[in-house]
Amino acid sequence: MTRLENKVAIVTGAASGIGRAIALQYAREGAKVICADLSLHPHSENATPTHEVIQQTGGQAIFQQADVSNTAQVQRLVQRAVGAYGRLDILVNNAGIGTGSREPSALHEADEELWDDTMRINSKSVFLGCKYALAQMLQQDPHPSGDRGWIVNISSIASLVAIGGIGPYSASKGAVSSLTRQAALDYAPHRIHINAICPGFVRTPILLAAAKDPALADEYNRLHPFGGLGETEYIARMAVVLASDDVRWMTGVVLPVDGGYTVR
Ligand code: NAP
Repeated sequence: MTRLENKVAIVTGAASGIGRAIALQYAREGAKVICADLSLHPHSENATPTHEVIQQTGGQAIFQQADVSNTAQVQRLVQRAVGAYGRLDILVNNAGIGTGSREPSALHEADEELWDDTMRINSKSVFLGCKYALAQMLQQDPHPSGDRGWIVNISSIASLVAIGGIGPYSASKGAVSSLTRQAALDYAPHRIHINAICPGFVRTPILLAAAKDPALADEYNRLHPFGGLGETEYIARMAVVLASDDVRWMTGVVLPVDGGYTVR
């Protein structure tokens, strides 16, 4: 499995859930991975940090602490990739927060702080990541394929359909999907691919916090025609494709990976 050989990738939110699965899958495909997150162990003190798992299995990876909503820290993250591995080929803007666990989330009751936090962490972060990654991709030699870079934004089905009760989250992911299309158009002449994945409900800590109610969990099962919740691996596999030479003629795609949730 060497679809990402000789590529350097930053994955944000790599300590947990979907980001961890993407970082591990990228390393299996030969990428050198910068695992970025707020901390090494967001949810389980016992879990081996993602970059150490990669190193233990013969891959190349480092950890960089970064708050993706902080300009200086995102700049430093890109600099770290270049300092460690000489270039940056792939950025996965994955880090994010859900709002379902923060009550109340009904719009007429939600406070401004919830809105501001969600937009800052889920949307502004993608702007900052793109801004500094694009600047680096534009100034380095193209990859041997002729392409200059691959950006994969992790959006959500909440940017495509109304789910209910998560207004700030939906709006924040709407911004991610829109920015993906806009940036794809602007950077296609430079052969930088910018695509987004819209996961359905995936079994990760972000979701489990929102789905304490067993009835809600049953509802999630019912809403996915393929049944059950998604696994992080399903998203990671598509993130590999979107960072590989298989997307030579693809950009600006906002792609549901959702067990059929959005076909209804
Ligand atoms: P997760 O397990 O909570 O992982 C998210 C990671 O991002 C955590 O390690 C978290 O750290 C980190 N993070 C949060 N704020 C950050 C910041 N400001 N800077 C850097 N890192 C930060 O969640 P997940 O389910 O894998 O979600 C990953 C992405 O997929 C998110 O963008 C989410 O919106 C999207 N998504 C998830 C689902 C789903 O069902 N799981 C569905 C659609 C879209 P802390 O835990 O320490 O905050």
